[in-house]
Amino acid sequence: MWLTGGSIWDSHKGAFRSGDLHVESGRFGSVGSAPRTAERLEMDGLFLLPGFIDNHVHITLDTGIAAGNNIWRDALPGTIALHAAWNARRLLLCGITTARDVGGWDYHEIAVREAIDAGKAIGPRLFCAGKILSITSASSPFYPGMYEEVDGIEEVRKGARKQLARGANLIKVLASGAVNSSKYERADAIQLRPDEIAAAVEIARDNFTHVAAHAHATDAIRNAIICGCRSIEHGTYATDETRALMVEHGTFLVPTFCTAHAFLKDPAFADRALPHVRERYMKLEALRREQLGKARAAGVKIAMGTDVGTPGNHCGENMQEVVLMVEKCGFSPAEAIRAATVTGADLLGRADDLGQIAQGYLADVIAVPEDPTQNIATLHDVCFVMKEGRVFRNDRA
Ligand SMILES: [Zn+2]
Repeated sequence: MWLTGGSIWDSHKGAFRSGDLHVESGRFGSVGSAPRTAERLEMDGLFLLPGFIDNHVHITLDTGIAAGNNIWRDALPGTIALHAAWNARRLLLCGITTARDVGGWDYHEIAVREAIDAGKAIGPRLFCAGKILSITSASSPFYPGMYEEVDGIEEVRKGARKQLARGANLIKVLASGAVNSSKYERADAIQLRPDEIAAAVEIARDNFTHVAAHAHATDAIRNAIICGCRSIEHGTYATDETRALMVEHGTFLVPTFCTAHAFLKDPAFADRALPHVRERYMKLEALRREQLGKARAAGVKIAMGTDVGTPGNHCGENMQEVVLMVEKCGFSPAEAIRAATVTGADLLGRADDLGQIAQGYLADVIAVPEDPTQNIATLHDVCFVMKEGRVFRNDRA
């Protein structure tokens, strides 16, 4: 099959080129001129980009609930899985063809991943962390299906092994407290200690995978980098020193900038949240904007991640992160696109077959009506989605 007449994103040049794009057996062929007799899909006037990669999602959470305290308390198990499947579909149709779920709920997200892989559900290619490894914390009752409480090296090892045994693709650890949490928990406080984080990294490496570290606190960021975690999630209180460490160790930052924006955009919604959580979100946006600008300037590898699943931060609205990186954080459109494609693939260890429209790569393509280097907001209007050579959305058809 050939996608004809569109402008095709060249990740190396950070610019579009014109040509017809060949797709065969789920992978990209060459860019050239489609033979007259070939099967073709008209892409005239559209701008084709590699499928986007969101490295921080939670498909099992319900983002319509402002006060997210044990949201599934009264739900049937099947309800959670169906909700997650619906969210997975929304991710794919908005242009996310690959996503990393960094905290599920009782492994429903892994069931959804399996269903997608088996062709029984529609969604992105999912990489799942299973449950998040957390110390005994005030927030575990908030997230009973999402947290695995572990204290000390042996419990961390056991917890990590348990996630892998349930089908996790990676391990997620809480190196610091969280924002959307109990009032007894501080985001700038340390949670898992270096020896515990190192134990998780050891188990992950034994199993050919990586650790994603939730880290707001400065010391938590430093601990996670030094222990060998592959990515820092959020990175709210990073300093020049920790940014330099990230560059030195090749650690990725997944900024999740849009969480505060998404939470606060509807004041009536924010008013329904727990007061201490609302207060924290109000401080967050300015902090994160500053952080993201400094990380960019320092040359930290930045991979796009939305944290969809947090209150008001809906699956299907993921592109707002990329748009905000440009509109509020000083990124060029090409830099923001890179974070959501090439760098995202690199974080996942898939730089050789994901994140680029290049010969031999998996054929994940999205299309938008305008040139995003001129108008980044066109990403909200994705009108075509192909994953591994199969069309899931084509508004022109
Ligand atoms: Zn998260």
